[in-house]
Amino acid sequence: MLNFIRSDLAQLIAYTPHPGGTSGEPARAQMPLDRLDTNETPYDLPEELKQKLAIAYEREIEANRYPDGSHAALKEAIAAYVRESAAAAGGDADPGKLAIAPANISIGNGSDELIRSLLIATCLGGEGSILVANPTFSMYAILAKTLGIPVVEVGRKEANFEIDLAAAREAISSTQNPPVRSVFVVHPNSPTAQALTPAEIDWLRSLPEGILAVIDEAYFEFSQTTLVGELQQHPNWVILRTFSKAFRLAAHRMGYAIGHEEAIATLEKVRLPYNLPSFSQAAALTALHHRQILLASIPEILAERQRLTEALSQLPSLQVWPSAANFIYLRPIGELSPGELMQKLKAKGTLVRHTGGGIRLTVGSPEENSRTIERLQELI
Ligand SMILES: *Cc1c(COP(=O)(O)O)cnc(C)c1O
Repeated sequence: MLNFIRSDLAQLIAYTPHPGGTSGEPARAQMPLDRLDTNETPYDLPEELKQKLAIAYEREIEANRYPDGSHAALKEAIAAYVRESAAAAGGDADPGKLAIAPANISIGNGSDELIRSLLIATCLGGEGSILVANPTFSMYAILAKTLGIPVVEVGRKEANFEIDLAAAREAISSTQNPPVRSVFVVHPNSPTAQALTPAEIDWLRSLPEGILAVIDEAYFEFSQTTLVGELQQHPNWVILRTFSKAFRLAAHRMGYAIGHEEAIATLEKVRLPYNLPSFSQAAALTALHHRQILLASIPEILAERQRLTEALSQLPSLQVWPSAANFIYLRPIGELSPGELMQKLKAKGTLVRHTGGGIRLTVGSPEENSRTIERLQELI
């Protein structure tokens, strides 16, 4: 190890997007791999939108100029989408009352950047620890560790993966030097695909104002569950969203945070001045403008999720949990370990994610899902 590197980074294991690799030794190497390990939408942008973007690049984007560092147009469009989609999702969100303005939005180079900014804004310099409930999105703990921020971990109930709330309360009251400053939850959770339960939401409501609750709604468009309607009552909540999943823009790295003006102003202080390339801003604006076209694929994905869940639930040595997102959590019961199952699926040409003691399987195109069912039937 080089002497100038921080000693705690030697122990750190980096996030690996495709631990099994996207190339390598699938049995039928000439066949394209089914990439069902990173929860994207299976479909690229439609041709017409790609053409619009190509024209924008040709005529509007000045490659020699820095991008818009204020993100003004995009924040306006995102705020409008947040209000509209919350009203459509129902629940507590009354569109008349939901005062989400551009000042309540900060945009990151993927929501990963926003996670890091939130950690910098709340915990850096020995001021705080974070709390996560495993299994959950690994990026919170990985990014915290890169910043030297302690991570307090609690578990979940096996039946429905509800957070062990007694353990969480206990961890918050007993953690000192530094105390828990941020709690990270996903709604619905990755990899287990369950929306927050009423008890979990009550717990978030009960957190003291000195603790930030980060509610990651990366899969909102699939679940139609959101806590946006309660943001005004909870200045210590920040909601994260992304363009990487339902909006089909994973390649462009665009995510956003919704929260209290002061929290958002702090995120704006912490971010890099030109964090969003002009082309990615144009892509996100185009995607929002044409959201009806892009989000029209969601009913098919939800129907396919149902088909996959039913078919896989038939397999006797596979445990399958219900999903509120565009992926399904499974565990093999018996001889085969989840790691072995991942490797065997890869050999047949299907990439899945081995995480949290199980397998996270993305709902793909109908053809991909049929192959997934077939391959799992052969293996299980
Ligand atoms: C996919 C995903 C994201 C998206 O991250 P980006 O950096 O915006 O691509 C965020 N949170 C969770 C839980 C996810 O699964």
